[in-house]
Amino acid sequence: MIPYGRQNIDDDDVAAVVAVLRSEFVTQGPAVSAFEKAVLTHCGGRYGVAVNSATSALHLACLALGLGPGDGAWTTPISFVASANCVLYCGATVDFVDVDPATANMSMDRLEEKLVAAERDGTLPKVVIVVHMCGQPADMARVGELASRYGFRVVEDASHAIGASYCGQQVGSGRYSDITVFSFHPVKIITTGEGGMAVTNDPLLAEAMRRLRSHGITRESSELRVAGEGPWYYEQQSLGFNYRMTDIQAALGSSQMRKLTSLVAARTCLAARYDELLADLPVRPLARANDRSSAWHLYVVSVERRRKVFERLRAAGIGVNVHYIPIYRQPYYEAMGFQPEKFPGAESYYAGALTLPLFPQLTERQQEQVVVALAEAIR
Ligand SMILES: *Cc1c(COP(=O)(O)O)cnc(C)c1O
Repeated sequence: MIPYGRQNIDDDDVAAVVAVLRSEFVTQGPAVSAFEKAVLTHCGGRYGVAVNSATSALHLACLALGLGPGDGAWTTPISFVASANCVLYCGATVDFVDVDPATANMSMDRLEEKLVAAERDGTLPKVVIVVHMCGQPADMARVGELASRYGFRVVEDASHAIGASYCGQQVGSGRYSDITVFSFHPVKIITTGEGGMAVTNDPLLAEAMRRLRSHGITRESSELRVAGEGPWYYEQQSLGFNYRMTDIQAALGSSQMRKLTSLVAARTCLAARYDELLADLPVRPLARANDRSSAWHLYVVSVERRRKVFERLRAAGIGVNVHYIPIYRQPYYEAMGFQPEKFPGAESYYAGALTLPLFPQLTERQQEQVVVALAEAIR
């Protein structure tokens, strides 16, 4: 089976991990700070907080922005469930903004309409979580403009999008958002096994997330409520978690960061090649905007009779997938009363979406195999 995605780990990565295993620190230590710096150097953000998953980073981002019971946050239904679950972890309520079916990114027109209605009803969200679906950035300038008009905070769920850019700036620069979250799960652009990072330009948000990452504990003498207790002294000042990344993971992350540009370039080449190979088939790739570049986490096409095409491809050894089942269709969310009819964009996208295999080591021959199998499956 040709999988839809897979990690790219070479001898340098293995050597970096082995070096940490032989060193003093294996849990959060100097390799974590070095990895945070490497990501910041690439994306241009000021503070990075590495954690054990993007899910944890989303949770910390929501908490740092003050999301709690009585608050609301909005996200897109075409995402992994973690983009919405992080809101519920905080005791807040979640709602969805429909997508543009052509890009599968949040529709800024639908967001604006929903904000107008929410202002009238007094139900404006505190936070909006935007997802860069498949690696292509959402329309961040418009999100930023709406955020200042309606007074909400913005989290970019950039789990698909490290290495992507928007209007000349790397995703993670934070030009139009408060916090950007990256995922380092093995199918994503770079990996740490499991891992994530929250990036921000706000020192207070960074400090809040750093503390929550490790139980809400601080040892900084300037922050202690009780002074002079002794050198062993620390204080737990809020209810945090153990969301720490290990130095083992971070060493892999730093090594992977050195290859980020070439990994994204390889994905971009393969995506362009899919564009050509698929040009004569009755399938529609996602639309792209020319003021931004994708990190190409996923290559999604829209096909007729998706179920049949999917089954035939799987039978032919092509590991196609579907990203994503709209979150409101999950039984846990359905029970909250969400109705698919309210999201025609997401429903229409989901009806035809098919993810083709895309990862840096995919060979040209394998790619041709995928396209031949797809052509046969459609017939
Ligand atoms: C993968 C993913 C996550 C969760 O990432 P983990 O690192 O596995 O926790 C969140 N949001 C989106 C959009 C994702 O694709």
